[in-house]
Amino acid sequence: MSLKAHIAAQIAADGPMRIDAYMATCLLHPTLGYYTTRPPFGQAGDFITAPEISQMFGEMLGLSLAQSWLDQGRPARFSLVEYGPGRGTLMADVLRATRQVPGFSEAAEVTLVEASPALQQVQQETLDGHKIRWVTEGTALPDQPTFALANEFFDALPVRQFVRDGDGWRERQVGLEGTTLAFGLGPKQPQPALSDRLSDTKDGDLIEERSSAAPVMDALGRRIKTHGGAALIIDYGDWRTRGDTLQAVQDHTPVDPLQDPGAADLTAHVDFEALAASAPCAFSKLTPQGVFLERLGITARAQQLAKSLSGAALEQHIAAHRRLPHPAEMGNLFKVLALYPDGSAPPPGTNT
Ligand code: SAH
Repeated sequence: MSLKAHIAAQIAADGPMRIDAYMATCLLHPTLGYYTTRPPFGQAGDFITAPEISQMFGEMLGLSLAQSWLDQGRPARFSLVEYGPGRGTLMADVLRATRQVPGFSEAAEVTLVEASPALQQVQQETLDGHKIRWVTEGTALPDQPTFALANEFFDALPVRQFVRDGDGWRERQVGLEGTTLAFGLGPKQPQPALSDRLSDTKDGDLIEERSSAAPVMDALGRRIKTHGGAALIIDYGDWRTRGDTLQAVQDHTPVDPLQDPGAADLTAHVDFEALAASAPCAFSKLTPQGVFLERLGITARAQQLAKSLSGAALEQHIAAHRRLPHPAEMGNLFKVLALYPDGSAPPPGTNT
């Protein structure tokens, strides 16, 4: 049975499905989900992410976290956490770049938060030779200093969507028109959790709520506050998002999110204000990815790497050095939010 038929049968039996349930089913259904059935990244996959574009991305992030570790007195044991590590490329680059920081690797206990068994397998292969621990829930971290990374993780966590109707809200759902999946709206209901959005919306406006991110941010922020550490969270989105940002991408092209569930990536923009509000520790201002990478020295690193390259490899490297930081490419679209302990310096590269 296809995932589309499975979802249609479920809706026929139980009624319309919330958007968060639809997203979770599409992405992580145990046998038919997007992340559970394929490694979707890279040139040959459906979309390409920053660590897959160039090793420089992981190097800059790794050195920022390592500097925070030095600034906080080099805790002798800490969790080096990555949420949603994809193919494991970012962590591999971080571990390679931070080998030059004496004591860092020896103190790091690498923990990967990954829900997909298929991707855990890919990560195992990429990180062969390193001692790795996997957890499937973002809340299940050891109680110790925690230095963490998340690139394009929170955008994959399910959102609910609500359309304003007077002082109430109607929830957007996936239903059936005949045998076809179609969007619809549930009945008008009060939503006390959305009361602060009554001030910045009007009738008919759509907002998104990602309540699944709050426990993850709370667990992470609590460890950083109590034991020390820092986090760099990179994603597309803004300080506060508005409107329908649900998007499906297949073969590097946007597609209808209802067209082929399980076969396309499905994400929604990250509302960084909501993430920060769920973390009980200090947080940075939002920093554009391009500014962040430039401050950490991506241009000097690009020049150094270029010396040993020629031909097509050099062309590709030059394109990557444009793509990651340039404002017209990924530099402004992607933002960085840092978490750090109250009273400590934020990780280098981020705005305070
Ligand atoms: N960070 C990687 C991959 C981003 S794709 C990169 O930059 O290339 C999103 C990743 O998050 C995938 O590894 C996916 O399997 C994982 N993921 C998605 N939802 C998750 C969830 N609810 N819990 C844990 N991991 C999840």
